[in-house]
Amino acid sequence: MKNILIVGAGPAGIFTALELIKLGCKDKITIVEQGSKIENRVCPKTKTKECVHCKPYCHITSGFSGAGAFSDGKLSLSHEVGGSLPDLLGPATVQDLIDYTDKIYLDFGADPSVVGAVQTPEIKEIRKSATIAGLKLVNCPIRHLGTEKAHQLYYDIEMFLLNNGVEILFNKHCEDVIIEDGVCKGVIVKGEKMYADKIILASGRKGADWLDELCRIHGIAREAGVVDIGVRVECRNEVMEKVNEALYESKLIGWPKPFCNKVRTFCQNPGGFVAQENYDNNLAVVNGHSYKELKSDNTNLAILCSHRFTYPFDDPIAYAKRVGEMANMLGNGHILVQRLGDIKAGKRTWQEELSRTNLKPTLTDAVAGDITVAIPYRTLTSILSFIEQLDIVVPGFASDETLLYAPELKFYSNRVRMDKSLTTSVKNLHCLGDSSGWTRGLMMASAMGVYMARQLMNEGK
Ligand SMILES: Cc1cc2nc3c(=O)[nH]c(=O)nc-3n(C[C@H](O)[C@H](O)[C@H](O)COP(=O)(O)OP(=O)(O)OC[C@H]3O[C@@H](n4cnc5c(N)ncnc54)[C@H](O)[C@@H]3O)c2cc1C
Repeated sequence: MKNILIVGAGPAGIFTALELIKLGCKDKITIVEQGSKIENRVCPKTKTKECVHCKPYCHITSGFSGAGAFSDGKLSLSHEVGGSLPDLLGPATVQDLIDYTDKIYLDFGADPSVVGAVQTPEIKEIRKSATIAGLKLVNCPIRHLGTEKAHQLYYDIEMFLLNNGVEILFNKHCEDVIIEDGVCKGVIVKGEKMYADKIILASGRKGADWLDELCRIHGIAREAGVVDIGVRVECRNEVMEKVNEALYESKLIGWPKPFCNKVRTFCQNPGGFVAQENYDNNLAVVNGHSYKELKSDNTNLAILCSHRFTYPFDDPIAYAKRVGEMANMLGNGHILVQRLGDIKAGKRTWQEELSRTNLKPTLTDAVAGDITVAIPYRTLTSILSFIEQLDIVVPGFASDETLLYAPELKFYSNRVRMDKSLTTSVKNLHCLGDSSGWTRGLMMASAMGVYMARQLMNEGK
């Protein structure tokens, strides 16, 4: 019997364990997770109304089911969305994996309805407007779990794993990996050595810079990838109505002039709420949720500008963090919010001005200010041009009252070099999910976990 040790109980880690069990694996499976059981993950903000910077870990990003637990669980069912795994495994393989993984989600109670699967006249009309605006509309059917349903579903998976002999060590932070003569032998958890035959690191976005650090220290082959810096935009549901109804989530991509960086919409939440999440060192970043039952009058979505750095700079995560810290500094530790009209007029937004429009911010503790002081010129210029293009597809999107929250950052830039068996340059060491740099969404991270399990089972044959 072998020992398989997984670091991180996010979708990538738990779907590895789940598929191993489904395939009849008899090995000992252990998951080390720095956060809590899903049933103990409670964000105090629901009571305090303000982020209290939980220590040692933010419940939103850590614990069983990882960043997925508090997410509104939009499963992107196309290989074109959610990461660059198709570059490694091929689009057809990844699509097959997604279709298979989707069935597991359905078996655990996911809503059978899917939005955006059929090309309705409304979708065709949106694509036509996108073409006129110079934007690409990506086809991506979405299965929407909703935050409350996602919680139940992942709880059932947690129970399934525990009832099938998986050992999950909660509130245990993995500090390091043990590598001897080019072979990974185990990990160090709270100062103690844990040996295993196969080590899988699936530490998610939160653990992306930790993994980056491990790569540098131990010489695990990696390459600097893309980093996404942007804003979360909020407007009234009426403005987004047509797109929300036809697609739920619009995946629009543009390359606005003069810089031609890739800019895209991401994580759209009709009737949703803008949210704050905290990374280590108190970095506060903005995100968005939507609930299946509780609805707001607003829609929020991220607009992200991708940056790829060239020689000699190769630390995109540090770059994005500095941008985030700058925004946090100006907001006195809070998320900054500014009206688009004020950005165009070259002035900051004052707190009292936020109540003068139709749009009420759903992130109530965001601080009105001036995001143009924090966000780099290239990034903000690209985002503002993209918003004007989007206004052609969604008239009213670029109106003065539209709110821009900052910073919205996506840390998945360090891409670990792996072969098709998901083995790193170090024997017996595998990396998965968002921290590996190959995924950036629930479904693709889960599908990568399924693939990992199959590789481990094949090796055993
Ligand atoms: C608010 C929010 C909303 C989102 N909404 C969506 C959505 O609707 N659709 C979508 O596709 N994606 C969404 N995402 C992204 C999605 O949640 C992630 O892409 C996905 O969870 C990545 O899975 P993962 O397993 O790679 O990592 P994660 O889910 O981040 O899990 C990693 C786990 O590893 C643990 N960990 C990290 N480092 C260590 C360590 N050193 N020792 C022990 N444990 C460690 C963490 O505590 C965490 O539990 C959202 C994310 C957030 C934060």
